[in-house]
Amino acid sequence: MRTMWKITILLCCLLGLSLSGAELLTEGGRSRYEIVLPADAVPAEQTAARELQSFLKQISGVELPIVASPSGPAIFIGQSPETASALGIPDWKRLKPDEIRLKSAGGNLYLAGDRPRGTLYAVYELLEKEFGVRFWTADATHVPKREKLELPQIDLRYAPPFEVRAAGYDLIRHDPRFSARTRNNGHGVVDSVEWGGSEQLLGGVHTFSENMPLFSRDKDFASHPEWFSERDGKRVPRQLCLSNPEMRKELTRRVLERLRNYPETRYISVSQDDNHDFCRCAACEAFVKSHGSQSDLLIDAINQVAAAVEKEFPGVYVETLAYYYTRSAPKRVRARRNVVVRYCTIEAASFHPLESEANRALEQDLQEWSRMADHFMIWNYVTDFTKYYQPHPNWHTAAPDLRFFRKCGAISIYEQGSWNGGGAVADLADLRAWLLSKLLWNPDLDTEKLMDEFVTGYYGPAAPAVKSYLQVMEQSARRRPDCRNTCYAPSTAGWLEPAVLVKSYREMEQAYGRVKDDPVYGPRMAAATVPIRAALLERRELLSPPAGKRLPELQDVDVNQAAVETVSRMKRAGVARVNEGGLSPDEWVEQTARGYGVLPNDGERPTAAGSGPYHAWSIRKAAELHALGRELFWEKDPAASVGEAARMPNTHNEWHIQGFGFPAGTFELYAELRCDSGAPAGNAIRVGTYDWSRRREFHRDIPAAEISGENYRAVRIGTVTLNDDICIFIAPVVNPAVRNVWIDRIILIPRKSGR
Ligand SMILES: [Zn+2]
Repeated sequence: MRTMWKITILLCCLLGLSLSGAELLTEGGRSRYEIVLPADAVPAEQTAARELQSFLKQISGVELPIVASPSGPAIFIGQSPETASALGIPDWKRLKPDEIRLKSAGGNLYLAGDRPRGTLYAVYELLEKEFGVRFWTADATHVPKREKLELPQIDLRYAPPFEVRAAGYDLIRHDPRFSARTRNNGHGVVDSVEWGGSEQLLGGVHTFSENMPLFSRDKDFASHPEWFSERDGKRVPRQLCLSNPEMRKELTRRVLERLRNYPETRYISVSQDDNHDFCRCAACEAFVKSHGSQSDLLIDAINQVAAAVEKEFPGVYVETLAYYYTRSAPKRVRARRNVVVRYCTIEAASFHPLESEANRALEQDLQEWSRMADHFMIWNYVTDFTKYYQPHPNWHTAAPDLRFFRKCGAISIYEQGSWNGGGAVADLADLRAWLLSKLLWNPDLDTEKLMDEFVTGYYGPAAPAVKSYLQVMEQSARRRPDCRNTCYAPSTAGWLEPAVLVKSYREMEQAYGRVKDDPVYGPRMAAATVPIRAALLERRELLSPPAGKRLPELQDVDVNQAAVETVSRMKRAGVARVNEGGLSPDEWVEQTARGYGVLPNDGERPTAAGSGPYHAWSIRKAAELHALGRELFWEKDPAASVGEAARMPNTHNEWHIQGFGFPAGTFELYAELRCDSGAPAGNAIRVGTYDWSRRREFHRDIPAAEISGENYRAVRIGTVTLNDDICIFIAPVVNPAVRNVWIDRIILIPRKSGR
């Protein structure tokens, strides 16, 4: 009998149980446990111990001491011989990237993982899974209180399918602590050793001649124009001439030199610039013709670089983009084993998974690529860059897309969201950042459950309205399978039904009204209502119907008041910009007023308007100016209608001026322009419209001779029909005969029907 008892006790000890049940970690403000941190722990493992200590204290009120060797039962943190033996790990180096191990045994708990971050992630896994902690945002963490904590009975081993993960939201990017807590370690994540560091891609992206340029568009272009792309018979500093043997040699030399300067590098970016101007010289064209595509030429050049890299830096991967004109896979040239192709989904129809009819071309491209290369990174676009704040119901595309990327062999994912602003007003960006982080870590999790959990926890008493908002937006989008909005959707007109919009607006407002004075849920709901409010205000056909009356539910909406309140909620959320281009909340109000045609005109009455109605707005009021200070400059100019104008050097052809939200209708479109040109020849500038839902462009190229000199000319662009999906854009045309183009006003003269 006594022997039997001994055996039972021994078994219980082996199983980590006390005779009274599970071991108690803490009870009544006391604990026998210590946190054991090995003396040689790396900084992130030290952080792991401190995080565990801090959260256990917040949960139970007990502060467990952090010690080097235990005097009783313990939680072992990080890579130590005791933990290796308890977990059965013969060699820590055999763990997969970011792998985590959690195990309770013999009354102890072992938390470890791959260096540098695995142990930190193991601690967060424990806190979330076993103790109910939730890291909603950088500032909002949910910590349940417990009188009594049992030692969790756990045996978990997990490695994420993607070794590099980044939910590209500014909420995550600026805070290495929150990045670590949400298991983000990739593109844009602050590289902090204390919080586990991040996987950097040397140069970032567009390294031919843009970011951390391998070739300078000034110096190298001046001395070797033949290394750059040829367009319309002229060399331009836009992309590289990839067939040029001297350029390839020099590219290889520079890449090797860069790697010598950054010996820690694992991935180096050797990637095309952010434009469509690939080289069209005879040699490049001949290569493309004989091999099949621009991607063949690109991979052929990158392979040459990668072969040299492999000799000197065997563990380094050379990254290049599959983007725009290289999005389709090569026909003949296979990527070397140390090349990693970063596939970009910029053209995708946002509300549909990639494996669906709407995105068949992209799906096939990636599948074909996966036969022509071994390694992939993905640059996925998951927000609306034109309007971060616009409802963008793509919630259920993330998980299937990630599973598709996993199937195609992706090792690294960048989910580009509202990365440079927008904050919480970017269509529930808090939820997006959290959800995407969870799915990046494990794409097999249930989206529905995750969303429900976040919304319930984060929006509290207002959660039912938010859930309904999310649901009806998705349902409305699903009823319009023909709507192929991309990540640059200018409006909700193509999918959001008026009745749904109005109902959702009402529900969200009522929910906000109930919590608005609550210090926790008030600000969160104020931000959450911005997308639906902005969507309503931008649907002028509902609030200012051309003929007839508003819907009865909208009778009492005062447009001015609603706009002012929306802007105040944007600002209350700390938002300085509401889209990728940098539109400020104040500019948003101005844009909205412009759409209602109530924005005051600038300058003199245009001659073309005669004595009739017109709109004439300074370009700054009429459009967003992108790349200000780089490729576009806002300058004093006495000849301009407001004494200032936009100056564009004629060295590029980017759409750095783009305006949305003009009054709807048919207009004669004019632009007031001038250019600096000693001997005007060729074209100076392109002005036009682009329909983002139909993907149609209309433009006119303006000859330099027509606008050269000190005075602005009102140039007729054409008859245009504007709606919410159509923008007006202005771009130079890269012409050395024209130094600068200056833009004063955009003029719209309503076209009388029957004229
Ligand atoms: Zn070429």
